Amino acid sequence: MNMRAPTDKQTDLVLVGGGHSHVQVLESFAMEPPPDTRITLIVDQPVAMYSGMVPGFVAGQYRQEELEIDVLPLARCIGARVIVARAARLDAAAKRVHLVGRPPVAFDFASINVGSTVAGLSTPGVREHALPTRPIGKFVTRIDTVFANLGSSGTGGATEPVRVAVVGAGVGGVEVAFALDHRIRELGRAVEVILVESGPEILPGYSAGMRRRALRAAEKRGIRIVTGRRVRRVESGRAFLEQDEDGIRFDILLWVTGAFGQSLFRASDLPTDERGFVKIRSTLQLEDYDNIFAVGDCATLTRHPQTPKAGVYAVRQGPVLASNLRRVLAGGLLLDDYKPQHDFLTLINTGDGSAIGTKWLLSFEGRWVFQLKDRIDRKFMHRFQPLDDTEHATAFSSSTMGDGPDETETETLCGGCAAKLGQQGLARALARIEELPENSSVELGLAQADDVACYTSPQGQRIVSSADQFRAFTDDPYLVGRVGAVNAASDIYAKGVTPRFAQALVALPESGSDAEREETLFQLMAGATAAFEELGVTLVGGHTTTTTELLVGFHVEGFADPDQELLRLDALCPGQSLILTKALGTGVLFRADMMGRLRGPWFEEALSSMLRPNRKAASIAREHGASAATDVTGFGLAGHLATMLRAADLAAMVNVSALPALPGSLKLLGAGLRSTFHKENAKTERGMEIESAAPQHPKFPLLFDPQTSGGLLFGVPQENAEAALDELLKSGHCASIIGITSEAGPDSRIRISISRS
Ligand SMILES: Cc1cc2nc3c(=O)[nH]c(=O)nc-3n(C[C@H](O)[C@H](O)[C@H](O)COP(=O)(O)OP(=O)(O)OC[C@H]3O[C@@H](n4cnc5c(N)ncnc54)[C@H](O)[C@@H]3O)c2cc1C
Repeated sequence: MNMRAPTDKQTDLVLVGGGHSHVQVLESFAMEPPPDTRITLIVDQPVAMYSGMVPGFVAGQYRQEELEIDVLPLARCIGARVIVARAARLDAAAKRVHLVGRPPVAFDFASINVGSTVAGLSTPGVREHALPTRPIGKFVTRIDTVFANLGSSGTGGATEPVRVAVVGAGVGGVEVAFALDHRIRELGRAVEVILVESGPEILPGYSAGMRRRALRAAEKRGIRIVTGRRVRRVESGRAFLEQDEDGIRFDILLWVTGAFGQSLFRASDLPTDERGFVKIRSTLQLEDYDNIFAVGDCATLTRHPQTPKAGVYAVRQGPVLASNLRRVLAGGLLLDDYKPQHDFLTLINTGDGSAIGTKWLLSFEGRWVFQLKDRIDRKFMHRFQPLDDTEHATAFSSSTMGDGPDETETETLCGGCAAKLGQQGLARALARIEELPENSSVELGLAQADDVACYTSPQGQRIVSSADQFRAFTDDPYLVGRVGAVNAASDIYAKGVTPRFAQALVALPESGSDAEREETLFQLMAGATAAFEELGVTLVGGHTTTTTELLVGFHVEGFADPDQELLRLDALCPGQSLILTKALGTGVLFRADMMGRLRGPWFEEALSSMLRPNRKAASIAREHGASAATDVTGFGLAGHLATMLRAADLAAMVNVSALPALPGSLKLLGAGLRSTFHKENAKTERGMEIESAAPQHPKFPLLFDPQTSGGLLFGVPQENAEAALDELLKSGHCASIIGITSEAGPDSRIRISISRS
């Protein structure tokens, strides 16, 4: 809960990138958070990859999860805001980070740890035909596809050896060459690996002993090495060196040609070296700016320009960065100097359970060397796992967060559509109004309890309108605005009408400064207009106020044709198939996020589901003869279905095993986590007839999970259901036929079964 006085201004620290140093800053701040600081982490993807274990992953020694650092729960441990977007430019003078696809983010202090890209990508044909090892996340996914294809003989003939060319023989290139050689043999295929290096020898800059050992290991495995030659051009299946007519034939071409600066710095007009790395002082601050730091591969120390681009330096810079950031945030000027170590332990994984190492000009090899590397890597990774297998806090986060509130404690209420008055309270309040207003122009009003209102203008125009408001479900106002807009438009789509105009109702937090409120409103409206623009809705006005927290609402309108049948709640018919167009689970997922228990990939899936408009789903519903529809939001699937059934005086059988679930939601529900509004929604259960085994089904709690910007629930004639579902799935919806309607019986309206199929 924010307890700041109205005029307090927090210092904004923005961390760009989730590299090896920044995860240590998060770790340090989790132990002791810097006071009066709002921390924002900007990452292009919520999961960072630990490069040290990538060759082991290629060799088949590690699973992908073992090299992933999930930065979302790490950041949540310190109450940091996480923005998943690519930083495109940094305006140092205006103190803003410009992002791809959303408005810039302001900072007082910034730190950049975005790694590097691969050199030589502009060599003709490389982008089309080679597999660069950076960005690592993309490389990991792509190499997995290569192995899957190899397994099904898709690359090369099944009896022909697989030809692998690795370009670049630094540590990364040598390790990847060994790893591929091993993995492809393990897949039961013959393999020919060639390693190409433009310099005079492999492993430039490393000890002669290490080089000799690597050459010997390569010779033993039949890995060919070509040095002193540069790849000039690549075509499909062939890489051409200088003065080389025939080229090297390949099935797989790996591009590991050393680090190169990201375009971020060129676009930012910041001082860079000849390879595009931003120049920094020993304090890790940029040459010309005291309030901007840069670390890891992306930065070059002006005093030590030859420092290699290796993860070990990014790791060693982490504690110095954390300490220096802490000092500048406290107003200090005296900062620590970072001195790069002259020599460090380098370990090359040869993919076969062995490794080669060097330190202080000594070299060594053997299985024990791999075991040492494995131990070091796993120890590093273990530090950055804030959640255990049951999504509970580990030692990393328990220092500041514990496990968050449990069900029995006083809870901070969930936001989104989960923050509302229960269905029964709403009905009771309306029932107490003795005379509901009557007006012959009103087609759908308070008396009909539909998702929208519909009334006719004096000129005969049928206006369909709806108002929606919710409490912010996350601390990123841009996202809240975007999701809020999609969610508000959804009511109109649910009636088969196109939304046209919108007005905003925003309540801004009283705490903080005017400048902060202005920035929040800007971000929120930028998100809303982006979403509305995509839908062809014009935002025409609105109103702001201040209160204890951020609330966002929209009034949205569309126009129905004079003879158009609206997909009214009471128009559901008996014998119709019920189709749900989005997966359920946003309620429990955002509850987990509030508690720092949400994994990054789950967050991304939930977000992309909430940002998907219901426009296409509505048109598919209409094309397949839907008579009634609603959008599933705060009252959960059971609540919204019950309202529909009551309006049409029908009953329905719902197959709980058919409910689509968002990734992570079942695991969290299984661990006992619930949205704070779940209990209220579960009151619907009293009027349901439930097959005895159903409550034990893992999907059962999904019936009551409040949804934010959920999917459409509609009824179609049974004979059209499969075709409608097919079209929904083809257009990317996570849809399912969840049940069937029937005439209302004497007892309950909803019967819950578990399919035996
Ligand atoms: C195959 C391979 C094996 C390697 N093995 C080793 C090894 O064993 N030991 C070693 O010391 N080094 C190794 N390296 C080198 C090592 O990968 C790098 O030196 C190290 O990853 C750099 O760390 P970093 O923290 O600077 O950046 P990274 O680890 O690259 O992290 C950068 C982060 O920033 C994010 N990001 C990137 N761009 C943006 C953007 N524009 N906006 C927002 N976020 C962004 C990324 O998603 C990522 O999370 C290897 C390299 C490769 C290719």
